[in-house]
Amino acid sequence: MSTNDLVARASDLRQLLTRYGHEYYVLDAPSVPDAEYDRLFRELQALEDAHPELKTPDSPTLRVGGAPLPAFSQVTHRVPMLSLGNAFSDMQAADFDLRHAELIQFDERIRRELGEPVIRYATEPKFDGLAISLLYRDGVLEQAATRGDGISGENVTENIRTIQSIPLKLAISQPPALLEVRGEVLMFKRDFERLNAEQLARGDKTFANPRNAAAGSLRQLDSRITAQRRLSFFAYAIAQVEGASWPATHAAEMDWLQQLGFPVVAADLRPVVEGAAGLASYYETVMQRRPALPFEIDGVVYKVDSRALQEELGFVSRAPRWAIAHKFPAEEAITLVEAIEEQVGRTGAITPVARLQAVFVGGVTVTNATLHNEDEVRRKDVRVGDSVIVRRAGDVIPEVVAVVLERRPMRPQAGGDLFSQGEEPQYPAYRLPSHCPVCGSHVVREEGEAIARCSGGLSCQAQRSQAIQHFAGRRMMDIDGLGERYIDKLVEYGYVHSVADL
Ligand code: NAD
Repeated sequence: MSTNDLVARASDLRQLLTRYGHEYYVLDAPSVPDAEYDRLFRELQALEDAHPELKTPDSPTLRVGGAPLPAFSQVTHRVPMLSLGNAFSDMQAADFDLRHAELIQFDERIRRELGEPVIRYATEPKFDGLAISLLYRDGVLEQAATRGDGISGENVTENIRTIQSIPLKLAISQPPALLEVRGEVLMFKRDFERLNAEQLARGDKTFANPRNAAAGSLRQLDSRITAQRRLSFFAYAIAQVEGASWPATHAAEMDWLQQLGFPVVAADLRPVVEGAAGLASYYETVMQRRPALPFEIDGVVYKVDSRALQEELGFVSRAPRWAIAHKFPAEEAITLVEAIEEQVGRTGAITPVARLQAVFVGGVTVTNATLHNEDEVRRKDVRVGDSVIVRRAGDVIPEVVAVVLERRPMRPQAGGDLFSQGEEPQYPAYRLPSHCPVCGSHVVREEGEAIARCSGGLSCQAQRSQAIQHFAGRRMMDIDGLGERYIDKLVEYGYVHSVADL
């Protein structure tokens, strides 16, 4: 790249990241998945590392979060609220050193800087909510603030008081004169689903994920609304103590916070481990447990356990040097819709399926995603050529969550003249075909039904194949060696017309 290209790319990245950051931190309504933001952020970071002259004082790589909303009164943090550096692992790599290269680098750097042979790390899940600071004076909750831009945040004390699990008074007879606790406000998965169901029933907008729901619910000007939302809290740090001794390790800090009445994550989810091997084994264990946890996490966090060593390591501009977030493989990614095709099921049900440019998401390469039914495609307005957000969580079938509208291919509007020509989408809105793509029979959609069906019955090759597959399958006759492909061929060549022919 020429110098001009580099300058232009860095400037584009700064602009994009600033906009995405505003949508995410200030409006609680991101338009792209976290993985996309992280990818662009890393690209900018790499550019700035290689060409420090490209760094500008307003670069997103130097800043934390977004500006506080002016509607709230503001709080200046006595101790800045920082972000965390992050590390990723390549879970496809078979070899430990390759898989966890970034983790090994982190541990090596800490050992080198401290001159210690082995480091003990306190581990924790990385809660996917929003950071909060809670200030207790003489044991009584005085003030609660969001992180904001790290220097000042929003005063959300009244809203925080509505969260049942946050103590208004510390559970100790002689409380410290001052205690600042940091932690994460989040929404449990079941509370998120309930909230979205209620929003839908009322015709209100639903939230994209529990993080946005938690942030949107806490940052309400009317605390009665916050009170109706079920928010939860986990403490993960102490930022200030006066009038009591500060525990010597992070693990002891967490135990003390628990005694004071704060919810902290269960002890088996926060072991103290040694070295990169200990960290990696914790990471892999928590990744296995992730789907069964009642709350969303997007990775795990490691902190040098000893506070003395933490102080020795100190901070860089936006994060401590003694901690790191180790992110899980993303469950959402952006890719292109190459085609929309229809699948015909055993009972003739027609399901539109998006054929996608291959994308690595949720730990596997995805090339197809279900679009459920015609109404769904229309509601999301998915078109060929669109960039879409694909989600694959756990073993659930991949689905298209939303279209990234700003990336939709457009063309000059037909019929306009030179002066009034606007733009229109290059591809038309999706329509279910009127005839079955396999047998050409009419497609019928009964009144009030979401599902359209091929009316061909067993004369439709797709339905015939599926019916025989169902019959031969594990839950019915369990016929060894008679799999999907074999049946498709038998039906295609006309050897088998019905199960009787088998
Ligand atoms: P971060 O979320 O990666 O890490 C810092 C935060 O982690 C802390 O502020 C705290 O709230 C949280 N945290 C959770 N568990 C913790 C624990 N046990 N100990 C300490 N902290 C814990 O950093 P960030 O600067 O808040 O945000 C960056 C993240 O936000 C990225 O993952 C990025 O993808 C996402 N983001 C997404 C968009 C988007 O458009 N989708 C935009 C901006 C940021």
